[in-house]
Amino acid sequence: SAYVFYFGGGANSTDPRSRDKTVVGGKGANLAEMAGIGLPVPPGFTISTEVCATYNANGKSFDDDLRAGVAAGVAHVESSTGRKFGDTANPLLVSVRSGARVSMPGMMDTVLNLGLNDETVQGLAQGSGNPRFAWDSYRRFIQMYSDVVLGIDHHLFEDALEIVKEDNGFYADVELEAEHWQALVGEYKAIVEKALGRPFPQDVHEQMWGAIGAVFDSWESERAKVYRRLNDIPGDWGTAVNVQAMVFGNMGDTSATGVAFTRDPATGEKAYYGEWLVNAQGEDVVAGIRTPQYLTKFARERAGAKPLSMEEAMPEAYTELAAVFELLEKHYKDMQDIEFTVERNKLWMLQTRSGKRTAKAALKMAVDMVGEGLIDEASAVRRVDPMALDQLLHPTLDPKAERDYLGKGLPASPGAASGAIVLDAETAQARAERGDSVILVRVETSPEDIHGMHAAKGILTARGGMTSHAAVVARGMGRPCVSGASSVSIDMKSRTLKIGTRDLKEGDIITLDGATGDIMGGAVPTIEPELVGDFGTLMVWADKHRRMKVRTNAETPEDCRTARSFGAEGIGLCRTEHMFFDAGRISAVRQMILAEDEDGRRAALAKLLPEQRADFHAIFEIMAGLPVTIRLLDPPLHEFLPHGEAEFAELSDAIGIGVETLKRRAGELHEFNPMLGHRGCRLGITFPEIYEMQARAIFEAAVDVALASGEAVVPEVMIPLVATKKELSILKALVDRTAAQVFAEKGKVLDYLVGTMIELPRAALMAGEIAEEAKFFSFGTNDLTQTTLGVSRDDAARFLSAYVEQGIYARDPFVSLDVEGVGQLVELAAERGRKTLPGIKLGICGEHGGDPASIAFCEKTGLDYVSASPFRVPIARLAAAQAAL
Ligand code: PEP
Ligand code: MG
Repeated sequence: SAYVFYFGGGANSTDPRSRDKTVVGGKGANLAEMAGIGLPVPPGFTISTEVCATYNANGKSFDDDLRAGVAAGVAHVESSTGRKFGDTANPLLVSVRSGARVSMPGMMDTVLNLGLNDETVQGLAQGSGNPRFAWDSYRRFIQMYSDVVLGIDHHLFEDALEIVKEDNGFYADVELEAEHWQALVGEYKAIVEKALGRPFPQDVHEQMWGAIGAVFDSWESERAKVYRRLNDIPGDWGTAVNVQAMVFGNMGDTSATGVAFTRDPATGEKAYYGEWLVNAQGEDVVAGIRTPQYLTKFARERAGAKPLSMEEAMPEAYTELAAVFELLEKHYKDMQDIEFTVERNKLWMLQTRSGKRTAKAALKMAVDMVGEGLIDEASAVRRVDPMALDQLLHPTLDPKAERDYLGKGLPASPGAASGAIVLDAETAQARAERGDSVILVRVETSPEDIHGMHAAKGILTARGGMTSHAAVVARGMGRPCVSGASSVSIDMKSRTLKIGTRDLKEGDIITLDGATGDIMGGAVPTIEPELVGDFGTLMVWADKHRRMKVRTNAETPEDCRTARSFGAEGIGLCRTEHMFFDAGRISAVRQMILAEDEDGRRAALAKLLPEQRADFHAIFEIMAGLPVTIRLLDPPLHEFLPHGEAEFAELSDAIGIGVETLKRRAGELHEFNPMLGHRGCRLGITFPEIYEMQARAIFEAAVDVALASGEAVVPEVMIPLVATKKELSILKALVDRTAAQVFAEKGKVLDYLVGTMIELPRAALMAGEIAEEAKFFSFGTNDLTQTTLGVSRDDAARFLSAYVEQGIYARDPFVSLDVEGVGQLVELAAERGRKTLPGIKLGICGEHGGDPASIAFCEKTGLDYVSASPFRVPIARLAAAQAAL
């Protein structure tokens, strides 16, 4: 079959498709790759992702070609291992695992020890000389297969095991002997027969096809779908199935199993990091049932843990493993996340993949690997996900703040989070939707909790190590996580918990520090981040490869300073209306709006002029010499109107106009559809004195700063919501006139530009003509999206998520530019504008200016700059560099 590829046993498939992740999935490709470079990989075969689609489309059936391919694959594994599938004397056992193009930790199904039945278990017992191991493997297999393939509740099996332990007075699984496991197998089979009305399948081939089908089915499971939606993974990729000879980490004290990272995935430190368990099977480590041991002596000592590390307990296998780590990093040129098993002192590699990591670790590794000569600067820039930087641009706990320590767990995913305790995923989601910050606290998390983990600000688990499901998923999502906090005990009945000696209940506030593992009572204050160390280094490299400039949307001195410290190269949008809300000036603004005539407005504007001038003065000083785009007043005037009796009374006192008159004027200003109403340049057309005052404030401040500092400020005056050339020419004339007056009064002339926003479809279409009056265009993609889609930006939240869920829009078009639709208008306007005015300055200042996918589009369209909110500036710098590379 063209859909089955072999690996291991010295018989690797030579077909290049066998290394292609889109065909054989990430796990299959890496198994083939590892076998190819001579690493010890148990032999097996991979069924391609294409079969997943045909299986789910053809009513969940397999064709003859595939059946022949799988039979040949089994023969390959049999001849490589010298065992036979279903053989009573020397049986071959296999694992059946999923493997999508990208890893989806814990989301899909796995079956281990497949091939055991009442007869082969005898052969395994004799062949291994270890009946206890054989019967334990058989009961594990029944339990796992019943859960995954037959859909029988796993609690039934766990309860039966608990009863056997109680009956015999045992505390831990290790105390059970062969006969106990054998008896339990009998009970497990009875559970299955009772649940299904037929016996547990004894035919090993039936077992295999059942498991293969279950893996394909799990691609369509709810949790896999949620995961795909959160991670933008298309549903048509499908998963591959990997069938591989079993190796056993549970054959006694010379056997073990573990997971490891070639560098620390939380900090990026160049030190092997991992966890392992003696005499255990792989799932025991990741499921968080037994708390695993450290891999290296160094890590064990640092943590002050007692149980021996693998380095100390199994030095030979450890040395071999360390050599494999080195080889893998050189081969893949990236940090690897590995699963291994030691069977009677022999090391086997079960998986390798590029490891998930925190933003901090991603930066450190990228910078370190350049230093080590493993990768070049451009690769380092490409490797860091711009959105992940968000994790570092947010506050961390103030080291000076007082803390109420409750307990400690493992530092599984860094960052600080405070919120109300919630004890299950549904509650987490419900409360987060109401706007609460919540911390999800669980004994351990399972893939079913993924929506709750996403909704929570942080995650705390009582069990599980650094590689537990909770830890892996939290790191991927950038959620702070403390795992394996054994002092946490939860009582789901009363919905209360104990942390250390302290009694708490659902709803109480706690704080987690995912970088140290500390758990604290109450909300601990935080401090602002800085661009230093590896972050700074990577930003310097990014800047070398970037073509577009990165500006910021800011209007307060504080935001301007933050943006500059994050590397903003100017202001792309200063929204002057935001300055009008200041407590000290709102009554003058209201007086202006409610005035009956021009004289009344001018009286109010005279009060506002010095205030605006001072605003611009401060901004020009901070942005010393960088371009500053100031947009004249834009929003619907009613946004500034007084609300309620008290505000009207207060205003009446302040400006000496009767309450009734004010109310009448306010009523006259009411609009049915303010977003399409009296706003933007329409204000300038009807009340030119407003724009005149703003232009005067800009030029007076610019001249003052230029005279005082000698630093040439180039103000870019921007007219909003233009639809026609005529609007712009009228308002440009007004700005030019005002500039000339100010320059004459002050005896100093400055350069400045007048331009427009492109935020209406008509403006995009007429850009050729509009460019006769504009020196620059700034795409206001918030309004352009609103007006092109006919979707109100203020009301979209109510229905857009349903649109995204149903794939009508791939992503929220107000977050990531609708490149197909709105993008056409941007391209067309850029092209028509350039035709009239070659080299016309082009930028974007909608929210999309901080979104990596939209930034890539801006690069392709050849815009000169993007403008993003201050905290998005570093993200935009990196995304712009990646777009240019
Ligand atoms: C826009 O419409 O994209 C824009 C930047 O302006 P505002 O968000 O202020 O309407
Ligand atoms: Mg706008």
